Amino acid sequence: MAQINDDYLKLSGSYLFADIAHKVSAYREKHPETELIRLGIGDVTRPLPPSVIRALHKAVDEQATAEGFRGYGPEQGYRFLREAIAEGDFAPRGVAVDPDDIFVSDGAKCDLGNFQELFGRENVVAVTDPVYPVYVDSNVMGGRAGTPAENGGWSGIEYLPCTAENGFVPALPLKRPDVIYLCLPNNPTGTTLKRAELQRWVDYARANQCLILFDAAYEAYIREDGIPHSIYELEGAEEVAVEFRSFSKPAGFTGLRCGYVVVPETVKARAADGRMMPLKPLWNRRQTTKYNGCPYIVQRAAEAVYSPEGRREVRDNVDYYMKNAATIRDGLRAAGLDVYGGVNAPYIWLKTPGGMDSWRFFEVLLEGLGIVGTPGVGFGPNGEGYFRLTAFGSQENTQKAMRRIAEAGHWSSWEK
Ligand SMILES: *Cc1c(COP(=O)(O)O)cnc(C)c1O
Repeated sequence: MAQINDDYLKLSGSYLFADIAHKVSAYREKHPETELIRLGIGDVTRPLPPSVIRALHKAVDEQATAEGFRGYGPEQGYRFLREAIAEGDFAPRGVAVDPDDIFVSDGAKCDLGNFQELFGRENVVAVTDPVYPVYVDSNVMGGRAGTPAENGGWSGIEYLPCTAENGFVPALPLKRPDVIYLCLPNNPTGTTLKRAELQRWVDYARANQCLILFDAAYEAYIREDGIPHSIYELEGAEEVAVEFRSFSKPAGFTGLRCGYVVVPETVKARAADGRMMPLKPLWNRRQTTKYNGCPYIVQRAAEAVYSPEGRREVRDNVDYYMKNAATIRDGLRAAGLDVYGGVNAPYIWLKTPGGMDSWRFFEVLLEGLGIVGTPGVGFGPNGEGYFRLTAFGSQENTQKAMRRIAEAGHWSSWEK
């Protein structure tokens, strides 16, 4: 009989969004007359930009001809896209990324989940808390998390609290980790780090031989100056950081699927015999063995994002969502809530009022106002006492939700 990887059994079967769906459908049955407004799940709602659709159509038609047909492509991605990425995402910020260090994929979630395969089981992993659950759960699967801790965390993972008290700026670790995950701008808190604050992390990683896995999925949402869009804008980062990017949130590729990782030739880790070895050949080996590449038509669609029209269209989509973010921030503030994020990210993070826990606030918002959000505790122990709303809804629904809130008045009167 096959033996199960016991590390999988450590993971709780019920996933945050499944719990939410369950509570929402129970509410629906009880109140079929109420129109629910969903400001919970982090999926986009705007259609794909017209230039992306045109590129897709064209690439599809090519497949009908003997000359244009493409079978297996390079596992690392087509040259045309890797060059467009280096030129479009990095060169304008003064960062020289070698297209050869870019690995195109079907999305950042897979890359972030898969990358931990390159590390030994003994590595100590640090995450900010609250955190995107993929970093933690994939390390549980990799056997690096130890046992479940009482507060909902894991004994083997180092948690770096990000709360209102520290302004969502994580303190440097007390104990040296081997691998540090940073997601900036952050999901779920919607906050980010300024240049000097992030430089401290790069300096720390260099001084302590740590590796930073930098998730820049929300880079396109940065509105303020002085905030790095890429970790490679910081001095020395090309020695210690791997960067993950996605076409999902800026360009609406959540269904189409495309992302990429930058693994600079200069980023190294230690082998058991003490040798320092570059990670890039290992990632290349992993991808060429287990992955056969992002579809050609999708890579052509991604390339179109870098055309002048594509850029304009993406900017318009991001503007659209960021207008929602402002609407949500203002609406919640007027109801007497403490609100964070939503300035350089499509997420609004709020402090649950009156000492309510995250799930209690979820119920108050659902039962009292028919609005669905996400309990902060689902993102880690330090998410308890917080709540996430997203700006990815339609403007109409977002405004409708805020009208309900305005009509209900101060939060203390929301409970039915
Ligand atoms: C949405 C998201 C991603 C991107 O996921 P894809 O697989 O590219 O769709 C990556 N990181 C974070 C934190 C996200 O929220």
